[in-house]
Amino acid sequence: MTKYIFVTGGVTSSLGKGIVSASLAKLLQARGFKVTIQKFDPYINVDPGTLNPYEHGECYVTEDGAETDLDLGHYERFLNIFTSQSNNVTTGRIYQSVINKEREGAYLGKTVQVVPHITDEIKRRMQLLGQEGYDIIITEIGGTVGDIESLPFIEAVRQLQWELPEDDCLVVHLTLVPYLKAAKELKTKPTQHSVKMMSENGVHPDIIVCRTEQPLSSELKRKIALFCNVQPDSVIEAADASSIYEVPLLMQQEQLDIICLKKLNITWYPEPDLTIWKGFLSKLQNPKSSVTIGLIGKYIELQDAYKSILEAFIHAGAINECKVEVVDVHSEFITPENVSEKLDGLDGLLVAPGFGMRGIDGKILAVKYARENGLPFFGICLGMQMSVIEFARNKVGLSNAHSTEMDPNTPDPVIDLMEGQKTITNKGGTMRLGAYPCKIEKGTLAYEIYGTEDISERHRHRWEFNNKYLDAFQKAGLKASGVNPQTNLVEIVEIPGHPFFIGVQYHPELKSTVENPHPIFVHFIKAAKAHHTSKPESANPVKGSEKI
Ligand code: GLN
Repeated sequence: MTKYIFVTGGVTSSLGKGIVSASLAKLLQARGFKVTIQKFDPYINVDPGTLNPYEHGECYVTEDGAETDLDLGHYERFLNIFTSQSNNVTTGRIYQSVINKEREGAYLGKTVQVVPHITDEIKRRMQLLGQEGYDIIITEIGGTVGDIESLPFIEAVRQLQWELPEDDCLVVHLTLVPYLKAAKELKTKPTQHSVKMMSENGVHPDIIVCRTEQPLSSELKRKIALFCNVQPDSVIEAADASSIYEVPLLMQQEQLDIICLKKLNITWYPEPDLTIWKGFLSKLQNPKSSVTIGLIGKYIELQDAYKSILEAFIHAGAINECKVEVVDVHSEFITPENVSEKLDGLDGLLVAPGFGMRGIDGKILAVKYARENGLPFFGICLGMQMSVIEFARNKVGLSNAHSTEMDPNTPDPVIDLMEGQKTITNKGGTMRLGAYPCKIEKGTLAYEIYGTEDISERHRHRWEFNNKYLDAFQKAGLKASGVNPQTNLVEIVEIPGHPFFIGVQYHPELKSTVENPHPIFVHFIKAAKAHHTSKPESANPVKGSEKI
C-alpha cells in the first residue's frame, strides 16, 4: 500500500517547497523506504518546455524525454533516482487529457466540469506512480495556497483525504514566518492566514514547516500550533541554510521524517543511513583548494536558469575537495577588445546551453580564448555547437561557418537542423529529447573521463554537428570522440593536445547527483585545479561571483 504526503505552500512563492520535499524524501529513503516525488504545477502550459528561463528557470529533461519543472532536478539529485513524465503534471496536461476524452465521446451526455472531471483526472495522476510499488509518494503542489489556479489541486487533495484510508495521506504546509526588524519579532499572522485559507478549501495541514531567518522559540511554535490547530511537535522550523544539501540534516534534527511516519501510522523503521550524504557535506564544507570557473551565458542574472549546471559544479567540487567559485560572464558583453580582460585569471570556462542569436558572438570569442590559451573548456549543447563554429572559422578556414539556427544562409552550415526536425512545425515537445546512447572512442579524453565505451546521456536540441564537415574537422585537429551508434550523430568533440577541451551535444548536468557526480564535471574541475596550480603567482584572480 502506497502512502501519500502532499506538500503545499503558503504566504509566498520561492519558499523552497522542492528542497523541503526532496529533503523529506531523502530522510525517508535513508530509512529504507522506496520513495518518489512528483510535482503538480497549476499553470496552463502542457509542460515547461515552451517557457523561457525568465519565467520558470531551467527546463529539466528526464530520461524518457519529458520537459519538466526544475524541481525534478532536485528530486533526482537528492534521491539518486530517475523521474519521468509521470512525476510532473500541469493544469495544461490535465485539461488536455480531459478535453481529448470529451472529444472521443468518453463523457457522452454529461456536462464536463472542474469538479468532478478535472479533479478526477488530477486524482488519477496523483496516484499513477502508486502502481509502481512505492512505499511513499510525496506530491508537491506548485504555486501558493489562495491562487485561483491551485484550487482544483487543493480540491483533489481534499477528496483524496476522504477516499484513502485515514492514515495513508497527510498534508505538510510550508509557510513563511517573517522577522520584522523594526519590531525585532517573528510574525505568525501570515502563517495563520494561509492555514485558514486552506481550511476554507477543506484541507487542513497535519504538519506546518516554517521558513524562517531566525530560530523559532518553543513558545512561538506553541502559538502557531494553537492558532493553526496542529500538534506542537508538528510545527517544524526550517531555518535558512548555507547550502540546500544541509536541509535534510536540518529536517532530521526537527524530526520531520519521524513525525510524518507517525502520522502515516508506520511504526517500524530503521535508523537512517546518511553516511554518503554526510561524507559529501563534510567535503563540501571543508575544501582544500579553490578554482574559479567562468560560466558564459545569456541568462546570468537568473539564479535558476542554469540550476543543474551550478549543482553539478557543487557535486564535482565536493568530490575534488575543491571550492568551485562560479563567475557569471554575460556573453552579450564579450567583445574582441575585452575578452582577455574578462576571462583572464579564470581556471576554466563553461559555455552554456541556449537558443537563438543573443550573445552568440561572445560565446564564440570565449571558446577561441580558451582554445588558444590552454584554458580548460567545457561546452554544453549550444556551447559545444559554438566550439565547432569557432574551430571551423579559425582552424578549418571556413570563415563564414555558422549554425543555420542563427544564419539560415551560411555558406558553411557546420551545425545544421537535424533531418527529422525539418518538417516539424509544433514547438512543444518536439526537440530531440531524453536519453540516447553514445559510443566513445578509446584513447580519447572522453574515454578517460567515462572509462567506458558505451554511455547514455539526455538531450534537448534541434540542431546537430553536420557530418559533411567531419573529415575537414578531424584533419584540422577537432576530434569527434563520441557518436550515436545508430544515427552517427556527433555527440562529443574534443581537441587532442589541449589540456582539457570538450564539447558535448547532450546535457550531462542533468545526470549529476550527490551520490554520482557527473564524470565530465569531475574531470573538468580536476583540470581547472591543475590549471590553477600551473598559473604564475601574478595571474589576475577574478573576484568571486562577480558578474562581468
Ligand atoms: N539551440 C540549440 C539547438 O536547438 C542548442 C540547444 C541547447 O543548448 N539546449 O540545437
